Amino acid sequence: MLPFKLVYHPGYDLNLGQHVFPSQKYRLIYEKLQADGIASPGDIVSPEPACDEDVLRVHTADWVHKLKTGTLSASEQMKLEVPYSRALVGAFWLAAAGTIAAAQCALRDGFGCNLGGGFHHAYPGHGEGFCAIHDVAVAIRRLQHDGLIRSAMVVDTDVHHGNGTASILSGDDSVFTLSIHQENNYPAHKPPSTIDLNMEDGAGDQEYLATLLSAVRKSVEKFRPNIMFYVGGADPYLEDQLGGLALTMDGLKTRDESVFHEARVRNIPVVTTFAGGYARRVQDTVQIHVNTVLAAKQTAERLAPSP
Ligand SMILES: [Zn+2]
Repeated sequence: MLPFKLVYHPGYDLNLGQHVFPSQKYRLIYEKLQADGIASPGDIVSPEPACDEDVLRVHTADWVHKLKTGTLSASEQMKLEVPYSRALVGAFWLAAAGTIAAAQCALRDGFGCNLGGGFHHAYPGHGEGFCAIHDVAVAIRRLQHDGLIRSAMVVDTDVHHGNGTASILSGDDSVFTLSIHQENNYPAHKPPSTIDLNMEDGAGDQEYLATLLSAVRKSVEKFRPNIMFYVGGADPYLEDQLGGLALTMDGLKTRDESVFHEARVRNIPVVTTFAGGYARRVQDTVQIHVNTVLAAKQTAERLAPSP
């Protein structure tokens, strides 16, 4: 048994078929966690789709209506970069519910892992780069609405800048956003996060980890959030097709463990989400995401009071 819950639903699959976004990865991760003996069925909780009230705290009524009725314009469809379907919309609503559920679990258990989510390119009134609904922002607003948290920090390690996150949450003193990404990559327009760590093309483990960890340590120490949301992109990996950084699989796992440690050692609950991953071999993307759960497990065990 894990010392925290994993949140998963078969409907997370965006059913994209042959697409650079391997949306079958969610099921493959879920299966591998059990096949490798890391998780058992009792560790997994299944979310109900988010209610529209939750989604509408972040997104415009117009955007929600377009998604629900399939009336996106040609340019909105093009920006989203994934073909519209009812199943796609259902998957985004489930992912948002999953991040809410993982956050509620994290407040109780220290960690909560959504085996999906991290759709950090979604804006209030449009979708971009495979992201239609910003699950992390929806979860933060729900917890604040319920009076469960006052402040939150988002640590985004996807190779692409968290433009939706910055656009939704910047200017809000209750949320601290940190994005580490490849500067010379999508999105072209990067609205400012609280802290943006712009990495040069080809940056490797050492440089990346030194930059990230010093910033995370200082930010956590100063801001002391009530909860941390971790957007754990697999795409800084050296074999990623949409990324130009050069992290190894070990470097990525060290990244996850080190960020989790900085939060948990200060008793800050951590919610994990997955975001992007486009390795040439889908098994590599799956392993990197599985390692995020493993990093959470090892951090939890290391910091648990001895019996
Ligand atoms: Zn990405």
